[in-house]
Amino acid sequence: MKIHSNSLEIIEIKKIPIRIHWSFILILGYVFYINFKAGNNSHQIIWSLIYVLSIFLCVTLHELGHALAAKQYGIHTKSITLYPIGGIASIEKIPEKPIQELIVALAGPIVNVIISAILWTWIIFSPIEYTLDDISIQIHTKNFLPNLATVNLTLAIFNLIPAFPMDGGRVFRSLLSLWIGRIQATYFAMLLGQILSLLFIFAGFIYNPFLIFIGIFIFFGAAQEYQAIKYGNLLGNLKVQDALITQFSLLLPYHTLLDVIQIILNTHEKEFIVINSEKQPIGIMTRDILIQSLANYPKQTPIQDLFQQNSIFFTPNTPLKEALHIIQTHSLAIVPVIYHGKIVGVITLENILETMMISEALKAQS
Ligand SMILES: [Zn+2]
Repeated sequence: MKIHSNSLEIIEIKKIPIRIHWSFILILGYVFYINFKAGNNSHQIIWSLIYVLSIFLCVTLHELGHALAAKQYGIHTKSITLYPIGGIASIEKIPEKPIQELIVALAGPIVNVIISAILWTWIIFSPIEYTLDDISIQIHTKNFLPNLATVNLTLAIFNLIPAFPMDGGRVFRSLLSLWIGRIQATYFAMLLGQILSLLFIFAGFIYNPFLIFIGIFIFFGAAQEYQAIKYGNLLGNLKVQDALITQFSLLLPYHTLLDVIQIILNTHEKEFIVINSEKQPIGIMTRDILIQSLANYPKQTPIQDLFQQNSIFFTPNTPLKEALHIIQTHSLAIVPVIYHGKIVGVITLENILETMMISEALKAQS
């Protein structure tokens, strides 16, 4: 067992770590709470817990289905994390070939259909008499398996709702991209996903609050994936050197807030790289940090304890697509570009976006 900052790693299957997010405890707490409220004894609470954990085992197998299908196409899965609203397999990339995406998307729900089929076969042919009565009253040996079988079928059907980026949405996108190309297909999948997500949120207020979370997740997830694909396409094969800013000021830790004010007023620069005495980049200073600092410190204060530490850098050959991803995920205002141990330029989000707009305009022209 390994402890991560936001999750607990319980096992590794085929080199894929399976993790449980801390918020998962909420689910167990919720099970305790409803049992307690219903006045159930410890025996029944244990049954309820086993039932919930069994459902999450099935969710894990669902995610493993996606991961192992992706593996067939040489795509690695970094981890599978279980959250209270379900599992997420961090697949390194979604296959771009529609047929491959289709198979990876279907692999998850198929696992649940298979589990359900196995359970139903057992239930029908075994000598034990099972019942499918309401589990909200009590879960016990007679209704455990039929309910688990039903849950698996529900999971399969629910995940196949075409709300991109849910599995069904990916199925929809992959089939659509056979006809109209991947970017347009993603656009329509996003629209449908967002319309459905609003219905989820609406239904959540009436039936089950979990649907609200899922709806929000889908709404933003859909837009984010569409943006990523659109940008990825616009940035194409561009590299950091294509968007490089070669006129830039560097700051040293002993520079004061006043020095920064003067550079900002005299130039167009808003973000700076901070270097040490060996001329190696050690951090970032921005206009926002300056303004925050001025509220608490006098103008003569050196920036040494105020700037943001950063050790990330690019080379001129770093793909711009990758640079954009890193800048966004780490919320960096500026990143140094290093060649042969020397800072040859800087890159900012604004500059990447400008490069993208120019590239789009040039494409439209040709
Ligand atoms: Zn899935």
